[in-house]
Amino acid sequence: MAKRDYYEVLGVAKNASQDEIKKAYRKLAVQNHPDKNPGDKAAEERFKEATEAYEVLGDEKKRAAYDQYGFAGVDGQNQGYSRAYADFSDLFSGGGFSSIFEDLFGFGGFSGASSGPRQSGPAQGQSIRVNTEVRLEDITGDFKHEFSYAHQVPCTACNGTGSKSGKASVKTCPTCGGMGQIRQSSGFFSMSRTCPTCGGRGSVIDDPCPVCRGNGTVRKNQTLRVTVPAGIESGTDIILHGMGNAGANGAPAGDLYVRINVRDSKYFVRQGADLFVQIPVSMTQAALGLDVTIKNLQGEDVKVNIPSGLQNGKIVRVKGQGLPKYRNENSRGDLYVKFRIETPRHLGLKAKQIMKQLSEAMGENERPNPVPFTEE
Ligand SMILES: [Zn+2]
Ligand SMILES: [Zn+2]
Repeated sequence: MAKRDYYEVLGVAKNASQDEIKKAYRKLAVQNHPDKNPGDKAAEERFKEATEAYEVLGDEKKRAAYDQYGFAGVDGQNQGYSRAYADFSDLFSGGGFSSIFEDLFGFGGFSGASSGPRQSGPAQGQSIRVNTEVRLEDITGDFKHEFSYAHQVPCTACNGTGSKSGKASVKTCPTCGGMGQIRQSSGFFSMSRTCPTCGGRGSVIDDPCPVCRGNGTVRKNQTLRVTVPAGIESGTDIILHGMGNAGANGAPAGDLYVRINVRDSKYFVRQGADLFVQIPVSMTQAALGLDVTIKNLQGEDVKVNIPSGLQNGKIVRVKGQGLPKYRNENSRGDLYVKFRIETPRHLGLKAKQIMKQLSEAMGENERPNPVPFTEE
């Protein structure tokens, strides 16, 4: 069967831009991918053909050679379907073809998660993250916070070798052939996942330790105390080196990222190092003005002066009564006190009489004039 012209295969013009070529291939690849069309030989052929065409036209150098000399210009350079397809299934382990997919689909695979073939020599243990919650009240100064987490530690029964006899006789894992990963096809893409036989190490042990089942590590719950700096922002990680999972065969452990989540307080709202609190005052207090004593976040008394004629929603700033600034403890944010004027719902007889007198004394108007509308 004669080969079809690559431009014809992708359905693009001779002067098509790289963008148009990419788009055309992407469409054909998605439509005809073998995982999407199991058993459909024609679709597979179209997929092969499109991939080969894209391998050439998607590369400016190869495209120029093809434009000038036709198939002869790219013969030998272009490995065509066989390599492309092999790499396609290798998509998630960082094969050369994955860069095409990064361009096309916005990602090149989870190469961070799947390390592919194991490097020789023991690998450092995995770093792990633990989420822990502290109260807003806690972070008014440096404080010790206790939390629990689970991590992998060297198995004491086998000294971390994974071998029952202690004489590790390691052989290549039969399931993954030493790759540490196995591939699974689902839908359009092939995905790699950690090999269940060897747990990603790529090797298995002839006489596995019964305690750790040959892993060399066991899961352990641990409680730690960490110093949380004053004024820490929610979502900050404190890194404890070497407190992550143990490495293989005595390799150093990974790190532990302790994510500090700061729980909201019932009364105080935080914005950086500044705090906001709302205080109700009566209408007479607001009219006359007075000094009130409120509690700051630490529970200490703070005097706040209310000027006479206080209006509803007025915010008074109390300097230095906020949180310590993160990593700058000598400097503190401010406390903003918002006053809410409460009108009494029920008045006693005496209070009612006085109020009436007050109203008369103030010459209150029964025909008030409107003022511009404002939202509180
Ligand atoms: Zn394996
Ligand atoms: Zn063991």
